[in-house]
Amino acid sequence: MKPAPFQYVAARTIEQALQLKAEHGDEARFLAGGQSLVPTMNFRLTQPAMLIDINPLHELAGLGNGPAVRLRIGALTRYRSLERDPATARHLPLIAEALPLIAHPQIRNRGTIGGNLAHADPASEMPAIVLTLGGRLRARSAKGERWIDAADFFVGALTTALEPDEMLMEVELPKAPPRSGACFMEMSRRRGDFAIIGVACIVRLDEAGRCAEARIGLCNAGDGPVFAARASASLTGRTVGSVEIGEAAKLVQSDIDPGGSIHASKEFQRHIAGVLTTRALARANERARGAA
Ligand SMILES: Cc1cc2nc3c(=O)[nH]c(=O)nc-3n(C[C@H](O)[C@H](O)[C@H](O)COP(=O)(O)OP(=O)(O)OC[C@H]3O[C@@H](n4cnc5c(N)ncnc54)[C@H](O)[C@@H]3O)c2cc1C
Repeated sequence: MKPAPFQYVAARTIEQALQLKAEHGDEARFLAGGQSLVPTMNFRLTQPAMLIDINPLHELAGLGNGPAVRLRIGALTRYRSLERDPATARHLPLIAEALPLIAHPQIRNRGTIGGNLAHADPASEMPAIVLTLGGRLRARSAKGERWIDAADFFVGALTTALEPDEMLMEVELPKAPPRSGACFMEMSRRRGDFAIIGVACIVRLDEAGRCAEARIGLCNAGDGPVFAARASASLTGRTVGSVEIGEAAKLVQSDIDPGGSIHASKEFQRHIAGVLTTRALARANERARGAA
């Protein structure tokens, strides 16, 4: 199908893009990689009156240092640039492991982290990872700017805390700390498909080799990305072995509420969440031991 008619504006400056969004609100959409927006327009699920193309705003792209041990990724940074940046593997191993599982290279050449996070598909890997890492996101409008914690940013399926006049500018994430290991695993029907379930795990050890902190997040396990708070907390202060991992996997299964689909029933998704949590936690723990 073809999209409904719309007005197209290639933004020359961030200020101009924000001014247009302030004037047109929900009637206008920012166009980033177009990999989610354009298909929904073609199906006429979305019919914006105006597209504000932010691709000319190169200052919105790139990976750089934030304050202390944090990194900032500009909203217009393409998945492919992140995949190719050695800093991703060094400091954001969870993202490095997930990137090759997101769609196909052609889509990763165009798709941006900001577009993906603003789209907030519950099956998407990045929202679950940003939530698991405890990241925060910078939103800006013509009136000013604010930081939003990931836990408050993802409000529900395809819904975020962004106001109609706000643009997502960047996401800030902590670098992987010493003595930590991370692992991302997912199951999908075919390579490049959205995940039936995806699990992100981080384990950080103390000097005695016990778990100082664990964080477990999931995609396609609820209305939005899910942080498995009880399962994560259950590992703190313990020496992580198969018993502790098995307990955490059971808590994950009861912490989630997957939607089910023609490809996988809720029960199957819950089962896979348990299996993948067991495997990903064991791998993250091994990696943390290696790093220690
Ligand atoms: C065949 C196929 C397979 C896919 N598989 C996966 C997958 O396995 N996992 C996955 O996570 N995704 C998958 N995707 C989606 C892909 O990741 C999209 O690229 C991504 O979700 C959107 O990023 P984008 O830059 O293309 O955003 P766009 O499509 O341009 O925009 C998406 C939405 O975000 C808004 N937006 C964009 N940038 C901003 C901003 N800076 N501030 C505020 N709002 C903004 C837009 O207005 C729009 O509403 C797939 C897509 C396709 C076509």
